[in-house]
Amino acid sequence: SGQPRTALVTGGTSGIGLACALRLQTDGLRVAVLDIDRPEAREVATRHGLGFVAADLSTRADTVEAVGAAVTLLGGLDVLVNNAGFQHIEPICSFPEDTWDSMLHVMLTAPFLLIKHAWPFLIRSGQGRVVNIASIHAQVASPYKAAYVSAKHGLIGLTRTAALEGAEHGLTVNALCPAYVRTPLVERQIAAQARTRGIIESEVIGTVMLESAAIKRLLEADDVAALMSYVVSPAAWGMTGSVLNLDLGWTAH
Ligand code: NAD
Repeated sequence: SGQPRTALVTGGTSGIGLACALRLQTDGLRVAVLDIDRPEAREVATRHGLGFVAADLSTRADTVEAVGAAVTLLGGLDVLVNNAGFQHIEPICSFPEDTWDSMLHVMLTAPFLLIKHAWPFLIRSGQGRVVNIASIHAQVASPYKAAYVSAKHGLIGLTRTAALEGAEHGLTVNALCPAYVRTPLVERQIAAQARTRGIIESEVIGTVMLESAAIKRLLEADDVAALMSYVVSPAAWGMTGSVLNLDLGWTAH
């Protein structure tokens, strides 16, 4: 039909999420971004002609309500990109328990709730797509990232399970696993890593972030969006339950 497909991107006003939202728009979809209700977030959405859904994915009520808001705004839902996330770097022995709870909610429970409540719409699409933005830390660990590594590992399990359940409905579910991408999250992390490890910031990129990478260069958000664009395309109908690395050769060792 001539109707454009519709997409919701969580955490879509910054970094990888914004790059994905803009790429989907370029690909001809109607796109809404979900983010925490901040004036700057609304401003980014407005500037780019993206619909805006205000929700805090660390709470169940907001997460569930966001699906209805997105469907109302877009008139359906064909594509869900679970991208929102954040990092906290601290050893397990002092890792704040409330931070653990909210990281697990935003990066694992919210994707589950969004998939669950968007399910009827994704099925109705006939070629529904869920793309979960995981991380190379869905497959390997790094110290001081217990909640992040745990949530992202869990997201792979959710990806595979949803892929099996969606298969008969033309719904594909895949996970993307990037290594370090130059985004506001990583800019903040450079500072945090420097504090935790007691090294200067310029050392963090070379010796911490790219130590395990074969290609010694940070990815850009558009690199992740380009892979997402293929996974979302009708041509990728046969790819589901896949865990796609974009990892600078990290896991080739
Ligand atoms: P970012 O900080 O630039 O953007 C994250 C977005 O998520 C922000 O818009 C933020 O407001 C939103 N968000 C955070 N908590 C939220 C909440 N409770 N409710 C709603 N929205 C919330 O980060 P980014 O680097 O673009 O990261 C995006 C995703 O990519 C994350 O899941 C991250 O784990 C993953 N990732 C990032 C990298 C990297 O190196 N930057 C690498 C691999 C995976």
